[in-house]
This record gives sequence, structure tokens and C-alpha cells, in this order.
Amino acid sequence: MIADPFVQLRLLDLQAVDTVLAQLAHRRRSLPELATIADCDQRAAGVRSRLVDAETSLADLAAEQRRLEADVDTVRQRAEKDQQRMAATGVPAKEIAGLQHEVTSLARRQGVLEDELLEVMESLETAEGQVEQLRSQLSAVLAERATAEAARDEAFGEIDGNLDQRRAERDRLAGTLPADLLALYDKVREVNGGVGAAALRQRRCEGCRLELSGSELGEVRAAKPETVLRCDNCRRILVRTAESGL
Ligand SMILES: [Zn+2]
Repeated sequence: MIADPFVQLRLLDLQAVDTVLAQLAHRRRSLPELATIADCDQRAAGVRSRLVDAETSLADLAAEQRRLEADVDTVRQRAEKDQQRMAATGVPAKEIAGLQHEVTSLARRQGVLEDELLEVMESLETAEGQVEQLRSQLSAVLAERATAEAARDEAFGEIDGNLDQRRAERDRLAGTLPADLLALYDKVREVNGGVGAAALRQRRCEGCRLELSGSELGEVRAAKPETVLRCDNCRRILVRTAESGL
């Protein structure tokens, strides 16, 4: 392939822009805020699931409390009714004895229910504390995420502005290169870790950092300036510069 030496030098400018573009893309992908956001999401999911459990047991305990309170009410009303009947005039002594017995066992039953109620209320208090703690944990994680998100968006804004600028620069530079040379550069770049063109400086290929052998140097010296050279070692386009050391 043949290209004007000045055009070949422009390949190095294009390479410099492409390298910056790759660095910006890498920086965009590996922002520390992205890891923080992912970590927050994971932690928030864990807290949310524990919160659902805590809220479920809180609701269960509240239902248990209502049930016990209703039971205590029923027992109390029944005992009141019994006592009213006992206080009435003309109740047979046998019935009074039966009522007395029932009132005693109702009082015992009420005591058991009230003990259970007390226990449930204590558990309810503990469960309420847990729910509250988990809710505040969740809002702390979400606040941390929001902060990281804002920092990420700010960094994205800066990087994207930079990327737009560099992409325009790349388009402008690429537009000045012959299509066949540009196609070769892009192809070589793709298979060589993003570097398609390298300068020959102090007899060294700046793509693979190897110094050219005597015979390779001889070939480079003998080549016409407009011949497009490739590094024998890394196959990148080798661009001769004023500091090639030939
Ligand atoms: Zn090389």
C-alpha cells in the first residue's frame, strides 16, 4: 500500500485520538460509583427482604393481640353477666353455686389470656423496633446510592462531553485519510488491542517496543517514503518519523 508520508504521520494523530477514546470508554465503564451503586442495590435488596419478614411478623402479632383482646372481652362480659345473675333476687341456691364456679374459672381463664396478651405486646414492641431499624437502614442505603448516582451522572456528563469532542476530532482526521489506509488501520487496530499504527522511534517500534533488527532496518531504509510499512513483529502499521534513527 502507498500513502503520502504526511498522510502516514496523520495516522499517528488518529491513533492518539483513538487511544484517548478507548481510555475514556474504559473510565466510563469502571467508575468507582458504578461499583458503589451495585453494592447499594445488593444491600438494599437484603434489607428489603428482611423488612418484609419483620413487617409480616409485626402484622401477625398485631392480629394476635386483637384476637386476645377480643377473647378477654368475651370472658369479662360473661363473668359480668354471671355476677349480675347472682346478684338478682330469687335465684335458686343451686344455680348460684354453679355461677360461682363458672366465675372462678372465667377469672382463671382471663388471667391466662392477659398473660398471653402481655407477652404478645412485648414481642410487638420488639418487632416494631426491628421494623423501624430496618426502615432507617434502608433509607441510609438509598441515600448512599443517590449520592453515588449523582456523582456517577456528573462523571458521565464530563466523560461524555469529552467523548463527543474526541469523536468529532476522530471523524475529522479519518476524513482526511484515504479509504484503503483507514480500512487497514482500523482492521489492524481491532486485532491489536486498539493500536493500529505505531511510530518508528530510535529504531524501535512503539507498538511492540521491540528494536528492529539490522535486516529489518535495511528494508525500512530501502523502502520508498510513501510505502506503507508493517512491523515484522506485531504487524502494526509502522510510521517513520523524524526520530526514527535510520
Ligand atoms: Zn511492532
